[in-house]
Amino acid sequence: MTTNTMNSATSAQTILIIEDEPDIMEVLKYNLEKNRYRVATAGSGEDGLAAARATQPDLVLLDLMLPGIDGLEVCRKLRDDERTRDLPVIMLTAKGTEADVVVGLTLGADDYVVKPFSTSELMARIKAVLRRIEPREGDSDSETLNAGSLTVDLRKHEVSVDGKALELTLSEFKLLSFLMRKKGRVFTRDQLLDAVVGPDVFVTARNIDVHVAALRKKLGKYGSYIVTVRGVGYRFEEV
Ligand code: CA
Repeated sequence: MTTNTMNSATSAQTILIIEDEPDIMEVLKYNLEKNRYRVATAGSGEDGLAAARATQPDLVLLDLMLPGIDGLEVCRKLRDDERTRDLPVIMLTAKGTEADVVVGLTLGADDYVVKPFSTSELMARIKAVLRRIEPREGDSDSETLNAGSLTVDLRKHEVSVDGKALELTLSEFKLLSFLMRKKGRVFTRDQLLDAVVGPDVFVTARNIDVHVAALRKKLGKYGSYIVTVRGVGYRFEEV
């Protein structure tokens, strides 16, 4: 069943938790409400889909291991329904399920956290995803992307660190700007390949590792901002 718990703040964002384990559900609900989110809950994939359509939440926390239709199928159905197509999804996964994470990200999930996760990590991920979907002045349309003294000029195709221009290949430039447009979001190698060379070009996903290695070297002190997400892919993170 679905329940809604209202907090006093009417402008609070609503988070739908789809999770079948009552203990985890309780902890999540408690912490989200403490952080001033409204919470809706569902204990199965079927109820979760119904709740997503009915309550129009701002974000979904989706457990992948659910009875009945599992989390990946829920994710697929959310993306196939125009009412929920753009709804941000953070997957809750168990250790050692990187293959499922890759599938989930390919299906359009925004991020994931591995159980057992810390509350502060989860809250940081939620905030990062919600921040990314907020339309901000000059954000995605901006002509430059920045991280510290690293600047990417999208119009001139120029990258600089501390005001010094870097010589990047076109692929490296595309890779860096793609990652920096969605800082904090993890992408699979296939997603990065599509972004860099297009879906019709035949290259293996491991080619991305070569591009990343070359790019990191050229970025110098900012190389470590491209973080390897083991078994999954890469994300750009200001560390
Ligand atoms: Ca579960």
